[in-house]
Amino acid sequence: MRLDKRADDQLRPIKIQLNVIKQALGSCYFEMGKTRVIAATYGPQEVHPKHIEESDKCILMCNYNMLPFSVDGNRKKPGYDRRSVEISKVVREALEPAVFTEEYPRCAINIDMQIIQADAGTRVAAINATSLCLCCAGIAMRDIVVSVAVGRANKKILVDLTKQEEDADDAIDMPIAIMPREKKITLLQMDGIASIDEIKEIINKSFIACDELSKIHRAVLNKNISNI
Ligand code: UDP
Repeated sequence: MRLDKRADDQLRPIKIQLNVIKQALGSCYFEMGKTRVIAATYGPQEVHPKHIEESDKCILMCNYNMLPFSVDGNRKKPGYDRRSVEISKVVREALEPAVFTEEYPRCAINIDMQIIQADAGTRVAAINATSLCLCCAGIAMRDIVVSVAVGRANKKILVDLTKQEEDADDAIDMPIAIMPREKKITLLQMDGIASIDEIKEIINKSFIACDELSKIHRAVLNKNISNI
């Protein structure tokens, strides 16, 4: 039994609220246990600076930020750092294959993600929130993108690790994002050292957890938006 009483394969409780920001085209509050994020989408709109625009597709401009009060212990230094630049990049790369970018040439779609509370898995929560945001904004998409971190802690393979589990001595953390319809992986990162068998088990469990997540996402979208 885990400290929060979950089974090894169990996701943390998920809470989703769509269109929480009035002035954004699409927005989403996404909660996975104690990890909480708000994401908002603006555009398609003109690209700034102009020289980065692409003539045959739009660019996704993703900005991940962790708020100073989001972490345990000391306040996080405000503003962007190397970690937020890396996570902004991996979120963009996880989403891009799902978006019909060619439908919006010379445009930018801006996606802002604010982590309001962090208990591990903030990048996967941000990917879930941004995919839902794009759906709310009516952006043409091949599929939704769902994401979860599966890893090892205390010699067990665990789904959706908390910060305490991630801090175990033997921890491995593997955030993964999937387009569920095509079963295509759009993000795979790993912290720690794992055997081939462990990697296979982690990937299998990630697919099962993502399947469950995709049902939750589709149910929320069906309830809020027609024609999904
Ligand atoms: N964290 C923190 N301060 C920081 C960065 C991260 O306390 O400046 C914590 C936070 O709980 C975060 C966790 O460490 O969720 C794991 O961070 P990681 O970089 O592995 O990314 P994440 O798992 O959030 O995607």
